[in-house]
Amino acid sequence: MNIVAGSASHVGLVRAGNEDASHCGRRLWVVADGMGGQAAGEVASALAVEQVRRLDESAETLDEGALVAAVEAANDALRRYAWRHPRAWGLATTLVGAAVVTVDDGERLCVFNVGDSRAYRLAHGRLAQVTTDHSEVEELRSRGVITAAEARGHPLGHLVTRWVGMPAAPAVDTWLVSLRPGERLLLCSDGLTGEVTDADLAATLLAAPDPQEAADRLVAAALASGGRDNVTVIVLDAAAGDER
Ligand code: CA
Repeated sequence: MNIVAGSASHVGLVRAGNEDASHCGRRLWVVADGMGGQAAGEVASALAVEQVRRLDESAETLDEGALVAAVEAANDALRRYAWRHPRAWGLATTLVGAAVVTVDDGERLCVFNVGDSRAYRLAHGRLAQVTTDHSEVEELRSRGVITAAEARGHPLGHLVTRWVGMPAAPAVDTWLVSLRPGERLLLCSDGLTGEVTDADLAATLLAAPDPQEAADRLVAAALASGGRDNVTVIVLDAAAGDER
């Protein structure tokens, strides 16, 4: 599977520090959105990304189980850090990622998620959200209590129901995705989706064939809409050929 990636991150126009972290690697890509106060949030997202990116350095082929185990190891790392640094107690992070995994009939992308950072897939000109947010607002939306329009920018939008750093390791959602040449995967923190509608995400992705240009334009769109949060974006393109 030949993947070409672009990535961009920005502190935004309001926050003092960037609590997002990311890894844009050889066969694994991750976005983490740290929580727990600025210093703790930066530590949380960096620690979680550090754990998971180790898989990118191993020579072994990856599978879904290895990804779930890495997220569980990240959860342990945050818990251990909190016990050693009581002032950082409560540090937490979301984690959304994709990795090239080996399955019976070849390679796929495995998307994995804890929290409310998102993965989207662009295919045949249409953008669809792959992940389901682990958030109070998504639970209200899925039960029909609020509409999708009311969910965007909801005052309780920051309340996640699963995160890395929980007392017991969170359940990790995974999806196997076939990404064909011409198709795209977007990983992003809520600093993007809180500012830019899905329709505008799709239009921006369709207007920028180069993945780095697409990532830069998405971050610029979040800033143009107010940039109230840190924003981090990874765009993955499936290209023809086997070269990675
Ligand atoms: Ca955020």
